Amino acid sequence: MFRSQLFYLLSNIGSEIKARLEKGVSVSDTSFLTDAFLWVEWHHQNGRLDDQEYEIYHKLIALFKPIIPTPDLLVILQPDSIDHLKEGIKKRGRSEEQVFTEDDNQELAHQVEITKSLIESIPRDWGIKVLPLTVNPLEIFDRETNKVNYSYIYDIREALGLLGHLLHPSPQETATEMMRILSKPGLSKAIILHSKSMFSGKTTAECLLADMVGYDKVLAFQPKAALRNSETGFEDQEKHLISRSGLKIKAVTIEDNSLKSIISFIRDNNNDSKKQPYIFIDDVMLFLAQKDNPQEAIDALEELRKMGFHVIADGIDYTFQEEPFTFMHNLLGKVKKEQKEAEGEKRNPNWYQIETHTRCRWCNKHARGTRLYRINEHGQQQIMPYGYDFRQPGSLLYEPVCCEEHNTCTDQPVGFKKSPLPTETKKFY
Ligand SMILES: [Zn+2]
Ligand SMILES: [Zn+2]
Repeated sequence: MFRSQLFYLLSNIGSEIKARLEKGVSVSDTSFLTDAFLWVEWHHQNGRLDDQEYEIYHKLIALFKPIIPTPDLLVILQPDSIDHLKEGIKKRGRSEEQVFTEDDNQELAHQVEITKSLIESIPRDWGIKVLPLTVNPLEIFDRETNKVNYSYIYDIREALGLLGHLLHPSPQETATEMMRILSKPGLSKAIILHSKSMFSGKTTAECLLADMVGYDKVLAFQPKAALRNSETGFEDQEKHLISRSGLKIKAVTIEDNSLKSIISFIRDNNNDSKKQPYIFIDDVMLFLAQKDNPQEAIDALEELRKMGFHVIADGIDYTFQEEPFTFMHNLLGKVKKEQKEAEGEKRNPNWYQIETHTRCRWCNKHARGTRLYRINEHGQQQIMPYGYDFRQPGSLLYEPVCCEEHNTCTDQPVGFKKSPLPTETKKFY
């Protein structure tokens, strides 16, 4: 055991140095860190490596540390449950692994515990950026196309600073544009951050803006209806607005999905617009209490603005069925009207709109909608039908699509036409 671990250590270090020299860039499914800190740890804790061997091993690592190439990003996958992990191993069917899938076998749980501890120790001891992702091992990718669930690709690109290649404008540009609008003279501003699909970087941009103005200057709200499914593993989703990179803004969840409740919350808590001038409203179109009353939604945002807060509300305007999403387009209509009035009165407008775009996951065209799907028991992507009922159990996955070759859903009614929105959108870029 000891000799083979030494061999792995040296050959891992060797191949990582070689990859750096030859290709400049390398991606690998395991790293020397996997052997050194997961497997060796596990073998030691199980007594297959004695204390002396373990000590020598770590002395060797310390010796080589200065020349070991470290990755820009280490993605650590965590299973959403040990049962799913066992099920996945059974499906893969490698005979030597089947012992781990027995009901009373605790080894996988043990390995997951060790892996969990690395999320803290690797950045601390090695200065390596770590992205922990909680995944369902049964639905991480589509077996037919080998394509990984889109949200993981988004997270990894975000962590590597590569979203700018995908998003227009980039989250950094969006944050800077918001900053520019907010610093214009005049009254408090309302900004509607809008896109045609999910994954266009709105939340990332909001977190960057919070970085610029100071997290303590921001009051954030989210509707209960937008909370991510518990199967995605966000444990503290009730308390925080979570960007996909794991940056957090403390957010208040509005239980009754009413924008008016934000106003009463602020009154009840005596929140001061001088101390916390920025209100972020996430997934504004999911404040379903106003779904049949667009004017009430507009009035609520306007009232917050008149209370002296800058209001930044983000949302998308079409559902996965390509139907208009509640009052989103009415908010955009309000922007248009307000901009026109301001022009006539030769003043800075109070309402603004910023458009963010991303690309179709499958063909790279502009994304115009969001696909709803799941990975079925055969490991294939199964697109949900137009009439899908959200009360059905099971986790759902989303990805941005072009709505040309790649549709958001199946079984749209015969003769279905995407309804145009009553307002056209104004581009700022
Ligand atoms: Zn958002
Ligand atoms: Zn497409």
